[in-house]
Formats: sequence, C-alpha cells, structure tokens
Amino acid sequence: MKRGITRREREVTDLNEIIGILDRAKIVHVGMVDEGKPYIVPMNYGYTMIDGKLSLYLHGATTGRKLDILRVNPDVFVEIDTDIVPFEGESACQHGICYSSVMGEGKAEIIEDVEGKIDGLKKLMKTQTGKDFEFNDKMVGGVTVIRIDVDEYTAKKRPMPNRG
Ligand SMILES: Cc1cc2nc3c(=O)[nH]c(=O)nc-3n(C[C@H](O)[C@H](O)[C@H](O)COP(=O)(O)OP(=O)(O)OC[C@H]3O[C@@H](n4cnc5c(N)ncnc54)[C@H](O)[C@@H]3O)c2cc1C
Repeated sequence: MKRGITRREREVTDLNEIIGILDRAKIVHVGMVDEGKPYIVPMNYGYTMIDGKLSLYLHGATTGRKLDILRVNPDVFVEIDTDIVPFEGESACQHGICYSSVMGEGKAEIIEDVEGKIDGLKKLMKTQTGKDFEFNDKMVGGVTVIRIDVDEYTAKKRPMPNRG
C-alpha cells in the first residue's frame, strides 16, 4: 500500500537526489514474507533508474532461505540507507542521527538466462565499485542473480539540525 511520509518536510522527491542516495549506499535490506512471518536479508546491489522506474540487481548463492521464499512469494519491501552521521545535544532528546534513505515495495524475479545474469552482475559491480567489469558464462554459472522492480518508492533525508 502506498503511504505518504509522515514527516513531509524530510521527503526527497528530486530524482537526482534519489539517484545520489542509491549511488552512495551499498547495501539493501530486502524484506520478505516466509509463510506469514517476516525475513530480512542485507545484500549488496546494483541499480538502474529509467524514467523514474527503479530496478535493483542482487547476486548470491544458488541455494538458501531467501531463494526458497522468493520462489513462493516474490513480493518484497526494500530499504536502503546512507549518510549516517550521529549528532549530540545537551539532553537525550537533542541527540539524533542524520540519514538519507529510500524504501519501496516491489517484485523479485530470479534471472535465468545467461545474458540477463551477466547484465545484472555488470550493473551490480558498476554501482558497487564505479567500474566496468566483464563476465563470461562460466563466471555466472555458480551464482543466482535477482532483479527487483521497485514499483513504489519514497525517499527521505534527515539533515543536521540547525541550532544556530
Ligand atoms: C553488509 C552485508 C552485505 C551482504 N551482501 C550479500 C550479497 O550481496 N549477496 C548475498 O547473497 N549475501 C549477502 N550478504 C549475506 C546475506 O545477508 C545472507 O546471509 C545470504 O544472502 C544468505 O541468505 P539466505 O537467506 O540464503 O541464508 P540461509 O543461510 O539460507 O539462512 C538460514 C538462516 O541463517 C541465518 N542467516 C542468514 N543470513 C544471515 C546473516 N547475514 N546474519 C545472521 N544470520 C543470518 C538466518 O537465521 C536464516 O534463517 C550480506 C550480508 C551483509 C551483512
């Protein structure tokens, strides 16, 4: 269900700013539903943003709990955060943390074809390192590549408080 951010003044709507968050962050927390119970896995990601449509590319082993879940229920909720800077104050309530984050819901698809897997791994490495890497059939044989189309997403930023 699409819901607006409660602290609207912290919402980030500028696409370039959202892309900046996706570039700086390196980890996505992928939330799944395993027989009615939540399960969350942190993973590295690559991304594409095409006309405002966000897709994430993940890779991992060929077996495991998350794959078992996603084959049954591909619905996911993702969370990405960066720019984490704690700040202090005189009282406990004046302490806090600056952050930038993106969250959204989407569907995961396990990519089966070799060309698609290579493409996903290239995107992952580009986001993670800023560099271009080549892959061959043999290299992709032992990994699973997942694409998540994030159908709805929001972004939020908590800046450093201005205390004059
Ligand atoms: C910063 C970071 C980045 C990562 N990047 C990747 C990535 O890009 N690709 C990737 O495949 N994995 C990555 N991992 C590992 C990932 O979090 C999972 O451990 C891994 O993907 C296996 O998931 P699974 O559901 O198949 O695990 P399984 O081993 O099948 O899970 C079985 C049980 O093991 C426990 N478990 C699984 N993972 C963890 C964990 N991370 N910490 C503690 N307990 C756990 C849970 O209780 C789970 O129920 C990363 C982890 C971290 C912390």
